[in-house]
Amino acid sequence: MSKPSIGYNDTPMLPNSKWRVHDGKRPQPRRVIPGNNPSQPPSDAIILFNGEDTSKWVGRDGGPVRWKVENGVLIVKPGTGDIQTKQHFGDCQLHIEWAAPAEVKGEGQGRGNSGVFLMGRYEIQILDGYNNVTYADGTTAAIYGQYPPLVNACRKPGEWQTYDIFFVAPRFKGEKLISPAYVTVVHNGVLVHHHVELLGQTGHRILPSYKPHPPKGPIKLQDHGDPVRFRNIWIRELKGYDE
Ligand code: MG
Repeated sequence: MSKPSIGYNDTPMLPNSKWRVHDGKRPQPRRVIPGNNPSQPPSDAIILFNGEDTSKWVGRDGGPVRWKVENGVLIVKPGTGDIQTKQHFGDCQLHIEWAAPAEVKGEGQGRGNSGVFLMGRYEIQILDGYNNVTYADGTTAAIYGQYPPLVNACRKPGEWQTYDIFFVAPRFKGEKLISPAYVTVVHNGVLVHHHVELLGQTGHRILPSYKPHPPKGPIKLQDHGDPVRFRNIWIRELKGYDE
């Protein structure tokens, strides 16, 4: 057998794959131009908020967004409700920057509370967790009601913080859960959840469980009554290795 120009065609088949080890026919990875630093969107990112407007979002009941955009920053307007993306996503990489109010008010869950909900259902907590004690599974970067972050990497109130979230959506067949959701979260460059299996959708004072839902859902940001600020929000849709 002649050796192909790249790779091999006489090597073992990889398990659960249509490719051989070093298979020369295996598709090349798609080219993506990275941002100038890891916070900046790469070429294939969908920009959800770039400092200008909320055109990618809807407010309560699908109505207009009533949060404020000021000086390139999106600010929760307490009492106006959560906002969510018009576009829906499944497996994804999400980058989001946020800051708790510089003026410290309240304590525990009442200080700088917001949240990022993957698929509108699975919350990564946003909270001012800097010198602010609350239940561990509700602090900054917790998978709310399920898992505390591995460490508290919170910056001071008013300072910008980053979440980089890597999410694998759950799979359902009819009413049945085929595979659970998994999430990895990096907070300010620090790994705080490493491929954690979610117990179900986020709730308060209840044991989480899965309820069947479509394969894609919105990114939702929470109005929890605090004027938390956001900037530089982008997302990449992830496809399977063999697609
Ligand atoms: Mg919250």
